[in-house]
Amino acid sequence: MVTVKHKILVLSGKGGVGKSTFSAQLSFALANKDYQVGLLDIDICGPSIPKMLGLEGQDIHQSNLGWSPIYLDSNLGVMSIGFMLPHPDEAVIWRGPRKNGLIKQFLKDVHWGEIDYLVVDAPPGTSDEHISIVQFLLASGIDGAVIVTTPQQVSLIDVRKEISFCKKVGIRVLGVVENMSGLRQPVSDLRFERIDGVTGVEDVTEWARRYIRENAPELSSLFACSEVFDSSGGGAAKMCAEMSVPFLGKVPMDPQLGKAAEEGRSCFEDKRCGASAPAILRIVEEL
Ligand code: ADP
Repeated sequence: MVTVKHKILVLSGKGGVGKSTFSAQLSFALANKDYQVGLLDIDICGPSIPKMLGLEGQDIHQSNLGWSPIYLDSNLGVMSIGFMLPHPDEAVIWRGPRKNGLIKQFLKDVHWGEIDYLVVDAPPGTSDEHISIVQFLLASGIDGAVIVTTPQQVSLIDVRKEISFCKKVGIRVLGVVENMSGLRQPVSDLRFERIDGVTGVEDVTEWARRYIRENAPELSSLFACSEVFDSSGGGAAKMCAEMSVPFLGKVPMDPQLGKAAEEGRSCFEDKRCGASAPAILRIVEEL
């Protein structure tokens, strides 16, 4: 018996904006709340979920009930197209019908058992594959989609298309997450580099850190913030207001979140993710 109470589709207009990172951390957050969670990665051309959950190289097992998810904890099961590839370097060069067939099988044939949440990490864009995904999810019931973007116009333009896609096919937009919304780093983690031509101190990072320790220790408990991308156009919040969809919040660019993702860890168990983990948790509360 498979019962999935809630299904959340995670979408993005472009690749590389943090869709899989958000899907992974959303799943960790829901599992931390003691929900029974399934994370399904159908990003067929770039399945990053095995790495982001520390499950690389795992094999899928099949029973007479269907494919069995790989359990990270007793309440967090994961299934990814990446588990089916013989080698992580292997490209998936398949034509549409084969891709669609596999996606449908993934949506249909995984034996999740009884779960509270299914988080579906979809491919970026609004391709042919999305039609298959949406058809299945609409038929079996879906709460809606979360769309991940960066604050840049190049990403937001594609998000507008993604929102219009959702509206056309009848999927509710639960909201938009602005990821990589400025860089935030504890001052104590900053590395300093000499501006060309300026000399005098050998190791400038060591010099600056010592200077802060001795002269302004309070600085170490602050975040250094910089706007990496131009958000003078109002970013995702403005776009959401214009398109009448909820804005869920901002997640800063946090090198420690990137590291947690690289190492397959939850950011919520890592005190160094202080710039990003609370922001992600606030968004999860909004959902
Ligand atoms: P997508 O799924 O949209 O292609 P990913 O989730 O794979 O994007 O993210 C792309 C890269 O950016 C990954 O290396 C990830 O660790 C990093 N990343 C994503 N969001 C953040 C963030 N908020 N702070 C730091 N690194 C991030």
